[in-house]
Amino acid sequence: MPITLNSNVSELAGVGQSYVQKLKRLGIISVRDLLLYFPRRHDDFSKITPIGQLKVGEVASVRGTIFEIVTKRSKRGVPVTEAIITDDTGTLKAVWFNQRFLEHSLKKGDDIFLAGTLEWKYGQVSMSAPTWEKVNDETQISDLKHVGRIVPVYPETEGLTSKWLRSKIAPNAKLIYGIKDYLPEDVKKKHDLMDLPAAVRAMHFPENFTELKKAQRRHTFENLFLLMLTVLENKKELDLDRAVAIDYDEAIGKKFVKDLPYQLTDAQRKAAWQILKDMTKNIPMNRLLEGDVGSGKTVVSAMAALMAATKNYQVALLAPTEILAQQHFASFQNLLAPFGINIKLLTGSTKPAERSEILKGISDGEVQIVVGTHALLSPNLKFWTLALVIVDEQHRFGVDQRHLLKEANGKNGKMPHFLSMSATPIPRTLAITVFGDLDISVLDEMPPGRKRVSTHLVPPEKRADSYGFIAKKVGEGRQVFVICPLVNESDKLGVKSATAEAERLKGEVFPKLSIGLLHGKMTATEKEQVMADFKKGKTDILVATSVIEVGVDVPNATIMVIEGAERFGLAQLHQFRGRVCRGEHQAYCFLFAETWNDVTRSRLDALISSQDGFELAEKDLELRGPGELLGIKQSGKIDETLLLAMKDPKLISEVKKTAWEFLETNELSKHPELLAKISDFDLAGKLE
Ligand code: ADP
Ligand code: MG
Repeated sequence: MPITLNSNVSELAGVGQSYVQKLKRLGIISVRDLLLYFPRRHDDFSKITPIGQLKVGEVASVRGTIFEIVTKRSKRGVPVTEAIITDDTGTLKAVWFNQRFLEHSLKKGDDIFLAGTLEWKYGQVSMSAPTWEKVNDETQISDLKHVGRIVPVYPETEGLTSKWLRSKIAPNAKLIYGIKDYLPEDVKKKHDLMDLPAAVRAMHFPENFTELKKAQRRHTFENLFLLMLTVLENKKELDLDRAVAIDYDEAIGKKFVKDLPYQLTDAQRKAAWQILKDMTKNIPMNRLLEGDVGSGKTVVSAMAALMAATKNYQVALLAPTEILAQQHFASFQNLLAPFGINIKLLTGSTKPAERSEILKGISDGEVQIVVGTHALLSPNLKFWTLALVIVDEQHRFGVDQRHLLKEANGKNGKMPHFLSMSATPIPRTLAITVFGDLDISVLDEMPPGRKRVSTHLVPPEKRADSYGFIAKKVGEGRQVFVICPLVNESDKLGVKSATAEAERLKGEVFPKLSIGLLHGKMTATEKEQVMADFKKGKTDILVATSVIEVGVDVPNATIMVIEGAERFGLAQLHQFRGRVCRGEHQAYCFLFAETWNDVTRSRLDALISSQDGFELAEKDLELRGPGELLGIKQSGKIDETLLLAMKDPKLISEVKKTAWEFLETNELSKHPELLAKISDFDLAGKLE
């Protein structure tokens, strides 16, 4: 059967099951997906340099003949292939490590193109691990895939190399012309945008950099356009909904603030005021409350909840984990008890009898505030008059979630007000781009008296010293968190990594200490028990994976150890670190890395020099892109594009205007391809 855009990649020559699986993890299933998988950058190998004119340190392409080639074994048994390449002007050495197949694919006398960086080693010019491609007299430059041209470099993940991807994309390039464009003609014309097929071809096989730039511009424009259309559509839909207006009750507000054991920070006051003001309108609030771990978001949300409950409206508070739900429940009870508010906790481990009683209380309005995990959102949940929904540790609400809650809202059918809270500091530029339909309040000020966490980047040779220090602190009565990264795909819940680390610590490092373990495979009850033991001081060290929220307040835990720190974003590391500065004792954070090099060091150094979440987030944005920051999964496209776009506010406003005008003058339903693209572009799904 001929290969078409819809063919499964498994039908391509040389794509076996293991490659199919790897591609699938990148979201590539069909040949169309493969062709729409774009390079991350391009290397200019278009100029062929005579060997005699090569300069050390430069990236270059050469064309020559293999004069000699041998494969030896290193002391460790790794194959090392060395070749001498000649042209009319000189000779060059090329060295490849551990590329077994080279013995069979390259022979003395072969004509090849080589591309790489020229080095000076052992008194000789050489290239290590250069890209190569065999040629013969009939080879045209345009036939080349890997050298002699502007070469695409793909995000190399899942063990798929750029060379491999090129060799699968190039033979199917003709199919690109069958990809249907979905940008409206007039938009393309007005903004001088390339057609989609031409742009796709140019992304993979640009003739020159001018063409490549044009293709990239089209690609950026298109992604921003889809993003803006999605945002505007969501907003339009939301604007049609009505919420209940909840008047601010001054007496109650004053009493709440007066009864607190501390003074609110100015940032908390301001945020609370913004939220309460939103709630006085009959337009549903859609607000994000951002603030570092420990900045005091809970009390702000409790005040909003109180205001709604006082007026006999219901409130739902959703947390990502059971442990956090319990903590919120305790805080809310604590803060709102003096007002006689009826608060209930509903989670996966609530007993069936109690559960049905609570559900009944929610539907007849007796329960005023319900705190639970996201699992609370089940179809048999019915509210009496739900007016406010608070979600912790989430950036925004998905459209579907919103509708589910609206539907759960039996009596008045109104949309509740939404308040999300997140400890991920999202830089302003990014927020405006991605959250065009969201209002934002920021807690940029910590409650007084918080100490800096003394943060240390520990080189491998100092690891033992750190353990010595930790043992000493534990001796003084302190407790320790150890966070393990998720190392491989098959260990999604972190069972292996955390278990192994706990065993290692127990067996080799701290045999006398008691060590707890928390990973994603444990049941809610087990986790609860482990956390309770840690909180009570029964365990000294708690080993956990990053999937486990360590959001529980344990003031006595003052040391945070992070393994494989280079695998985490700076903002996330900063969040982990924030977990240990809750008590009266000085807190410490030790960062261990698996790959120890200058890049790791300079990136992690930022964490030492800054205690400002926003600053670190900006840095993440710069270094790793918004995907990392927002937790957008390796979807490949959206993040890079947005990153580029964010450096170009003019483009953002141009696209926003275009999208707005387009929606004003067009029925989206008349543009089915575009509509399909927009629904693919599920913003909330990407951002959660
Ligand atoms: P987060 O923003 O991480 O959710 P929390 O709301 O859990 O932070 O607050 C962290 C701790 O700070 C809580 O123990 C809370 O009681 C306390 N807290 C909140 N606001 C203040 C304040 N203005 N002054 C002193 N302590 C505060
Ligand atoms: Mg919190």
